[in-house]
Amino acid sequence: MTEHVLVVGGGTGGTVLANDLADRLEAELDAGDVHLSLVNDDTDHVYKPVWLYVPFGKREPDDGRRPLSELIDDRIDLHIDRVTGIDTEARQVRFRDRSRPVEYDYLVLATGSTLAPDEIPGLVDGGHNYYSESGATALRDDLLSFTEGRIVLSVIGIPHMCPAAPLEFAFMTDDWFRERGLREDVELTFTSPIERVHGNLQVAEWARPRMDDRDITVETGFDAAAVDPDDETIQSADGTTIDYDLLVSIPPHRGIDLVEESGLGDRGWVDVDKRTLEAEAADNVYAMGDTAATGAPNAGSVAHYQAGVVGQRIASEVRGRPPTATYDGKTLCFIETGMNAASFVEFDYENPPSPVAPSEKIHWAKLAYNEAYWLTARGLL
Ligand SMILES: Cc1cc2nc3c(=O)[nH]c(=O)nc-3n(C[C@H](O)[C@H](O)[C@H](O)COP(=O)(O)OP(=O)(O)OC[C@H]3O[C@@H](n4cnc5c(N)ncnc54)[C@H](O)[C@@H]3O)c2cc1C
Repeated sequence: MTEHVLVVGGGTGGTVLANDLADRLEAELDAGDVHLSLVNDDTDHVYKPVWLYVPFGKREPDDGRRPLSELIDDRIDLHIDRVTGIDTEARQVRFRDRSRPVEYDYLVLATGSTLAPDEIPGLVDGGHNYYSESGATALRDDLLSFTEGRIVLSVIGIPHMCPAAPLEFAFMTDDWFRERGLREDVELTFTSPIERVHGNLQVAEWARPRMDDRDITVETGFDAAAVDPDDETIQSADGTTIDYDLLVSIPPHRGIDLVEESGLGDRGWVDVDKRTLEAEAADNVYAMGDTAATGAPNAGSVAHYQAGVVGQRIASEVRGRPPTATYDGKTLCFIETGMNAASFVEFDYENPPSPVAPSEKIHWAKLAYNEAYWLTARGLL
């Protein structure tokens, strides 16, 4: 009997996993013992880290797009469609464009994060973000013509994609205006909903003095509750109001609705065992990347490392062997500290991060990785 492995989501995690499985299960796929499908709701694979550079005119959104069909192994059966329902009892998935449900033996959800700016009144009309292609492009236009006034960078929702990206944006904005001789006319305010500037204590303690040194005003414990686009203000739940001339937000994030509808978790995040990545509420279902509630950051590096674990586990199960691979929380992040310097952290569930001294070399390493990413997604690095 042919076993069907169905991967939903052709972003970083799903693409790396599908290629990993095509490699590991080469013999079974060639013999027709396994059928490997990948479903994505876009013909393109999107590499989001590029968006950080778009507002500063350093990259175009298209630099982060490639046809998914060019990135995956020929043995993978690619469907451009949207999954609209999951029945974990019947082990079936429904699709937007297909009338019949499809059965699976192993299901992997790698459906990423979804922005939910509508959860904050006024935010849809009142702010920019660089967490989408259109947002990053619109922000570039406004940033280019901004010569004086207050820019507020507000982290609204936690968890959000790339926990380091708000710090990076703050440091880059500061440097970008300095390079252009405008920094004295531009006030920068950074708000965080928690009592420090980053969810991770070590990163927060490293970043905070650097923000103070650069005259970035920090408001911690600012739980943004509403934006008034006419008055150009952002208000917190306890009534504190901050005026802005340009608001850049990290909007609230969710997973996809159907995770909750299928009883797999809340707010679209799948409850999983943080080491095996198996869904807690259903057998033969894995989740990885942003959508897996492991406590690890919502970062591409996490999705990448988890893909290797899920790949090994499914390959073992298909072969009737006990799966032994586990995810240890490994995370690797570059942190831009300006337009020409970056730091770097590596950590896991047991070992906290310790950011290294920023350097131009690390900045170039980050840019080089962004180019090499396409080989990583293809499974060649
Ligand atoms: C500005 C920015 C900068 C970043 N910088 C970094 C960085 O420097 N380093 C880093 O490690 N991470 C970074 N990240 C985070 C990183 O991009 C994400 O964590 C990573 O993409 C998560 O991978 P994923 O596979 O879980 O989800 P994604 O890559 O988002 O892929 C999910 C895929 O699932 C598809 N999908 C969703 N629902 C369905 C459905 N129902 N049916 C079919 N398909 C569906 C989506 O279209 C998408 O293709 C950054 C993110 C942003 C926004």
